Amino acid sequence: MPIKILPEEVASQIAAGEVVERPASVVKELVENALDASATHITITVEEAGKKLIEVADNGEGIPADELSLALSRHATSKLSQAEELFSIRTLGFRGEALASIASVSRFTITSRPKAAEAGSRLIVEGGHLQDDPQPVGAPAGTVVRVEDLFYNVPARKKFLKTDRTERRQIDALVTRYTLAYPEVRFQLVQEGRTAVQTSGSGDRREALSVLFSAEIAKQMLELNTEYDDLTIQGFISPTSLSRSNRRGITFFVNGRWVQDISLSTALIQGYHSMLMVGRYPLAVIFLEMKPEKVDVNVHPAKSEVRFAERNQVFSSVQRAVRGALLAYSPVPQVNTQVRWTPQPPPVYTPSEDFPGDYGTEETEQPQTPGETPPVPETAQPSLPASGMPLLRLVGQVGSAFLVAEGPDGLYLVDQHAAHERVLFEKLMAQRGEQVPAQALLDPVTVELPTESSRLLEDQLPLMEKLGFQIELFGPNTYRVRSVPTLLSGMDPAAAVRVVIEDFEEDETPLQDEIEAKIIGRVCKRAAVKAGQTLSPDEQRALLRDLEACQAPRTCPHGRPTMIHLSIDLLERQFGRKGAR
Ligand code: ADP
Ligand code: MG
Repeated sequence: MPIKILPEEVASQIAAGEVVERPASVVKELVENALDASATHITITVEEAGKKLIEVADNGEGIPADELSLALSRHATSKLSQAEELFSIRTLGFRGEALASIASVSRFTITSRPKAAEAGSRLIVEGGHLQDDPQPVGAPAGTVVRVEDLFYNVPARKKFLKTDRTERRQIDALVTRYTLAYPEVRFQLVQEGRTAVQTSGSGDRREALSVLFSAEIAKQMLELNTEYDDLTIQGFISPTSLSRSNRRGITFFVNGRWVQDISLSTALIQGYHSMLMVGRYPLAVIFLEMKPEKVDVNVHPAKSEVRFAERNQVFSSVQRAVRGALLAYSPVPQVNTQVRWTPQPPPVYTPSEDFPGDYGTEETEQPQTPGETPPVPETAQPSLPASGMPLLRLVGQVGSAFLVAEGPDGLYLVDQHAAHERVLFEKLMAQRGEQVPAQALLDPVTVELPTESSRLLEDQLPLMEKLGFQIELFGPNTYRVRSVPTLLSGMDPAAAVRVVIEDFEEDETPLQDEIEAKIIGRVCKRAAVKAGQTLSPDEQRALLRDLEACQAPRTCPHGRPTMIHLSIDLLERQFGRKGAR
């Protein structure tokens, strides 16, 4: 075929494909336009998951009648005039292609009136074809865009849409994110005649947070509020006791724009480093604000990817901010206060309480309707001392597994294994790079590993050596072990290598730091005193002292609690001395 310029209609459908992938992308573009127009009320109406109707009405600046048809042309924008401005964008839109794209794949009606204008005007476009000149109409100040029969003229695209349920959920999720980023705007989303999201526009972010997660979880989220030079980091992160099995609870905004950026979430996760169990992810909504020159938003037509001028600085700041907030608030798990004495084995601390936020399957991951969500109380966080833990007085050991101690506010039960793991972990991490004491083996031992583990070990030989494992390659997937860390000297050397290196999960981001921490964590797990091991009172006391000195004493490196706190208040209640219910 000879080379030809594509007909305008085909070209615009191709362009539309990049901007308008599904109903939620239409909602996104229209809501962003409303926000750019300084709207304070935005109402979104959706029918048949957006396939039949998407209407976004705002009370923003409006479009003058004589500019209305221009707004619908491709590359027509009021937000940008010179190329240089591309690098200092303060609005959500700037490419001037959303309205044109949407109008080319739907039956499109726009009605708009600037406050100062006497009447509004209306324009109808079908599949990219203007139906008539703008008609004057009576209309409230602001803009209403109606998008009907989306993709009616692109059946191929229509086929790729997911179930109504999924498309609706995408819209819910999107609008909820925007309510968080713009708490001072009053949003209402009506799906199939039912209010799905509603905010008051009061400026309170926790209100919106409870729509995204639930009131219960919103209450527990920790607040971030840090400034580094030109970078402000605000938002909410889950305490270590709340996590889920995937990254979908993580949201980032950069200068008011919802972005999808895997390295930002990696920075967040690194902030939780060793405080969450392997395979668990935090919940977070984080807002970054920086000078517009420092971030390039013109990476993709959907504008949800960004590039940072000072990438590493942004990531390490996020990591530091998260770490700081977690260390400042690391609660000791409390025994469920509902527990009453019964002759059955007392249901004290149940591990499942670790994950009240684990509603991670797709099906249940729907924002709640505000009607079902009680308001979040102001004092969401009980105040606890900053990092560290109170000084404890040893009372004794129970079941050769737990230490009993007294603190300023009641009783503490310490899991000796988890506590020792934490102590060893922090010691080894602090000495990172230094040689850990090793014990040479009289007879070197050979160990054969599965290919995967072998590859990992090969990469990590220098680290292993620092940790006291002197290992050399002996044959394909076979290694000779000449020494092991003194900490593990009681163990079969081959088994020691295996537990440290085997079954390494394919991580999403195998960064050397993370691998190192994991390997060190595994050494500690092996080396820590076990449950069932009787400790002398001196050893018990030493363990408590060492734990008190830890940076994150309240969890083991895998995120399990090291201690449980029974407050005096709780004890008094349990004994019926005070306000028994
Ligand atoms: P962009 O947002 O990238 O400028 P759009 O195609 O989304 O491109 O919109 C084109 C122009 O139409 C905008 O620059 C703006 O001037 C105007 N516009 C669109 N939606 C609205 C709205 N809701 N209120 C006021 N003006 C709007
Ligand atoms: Mg736009």
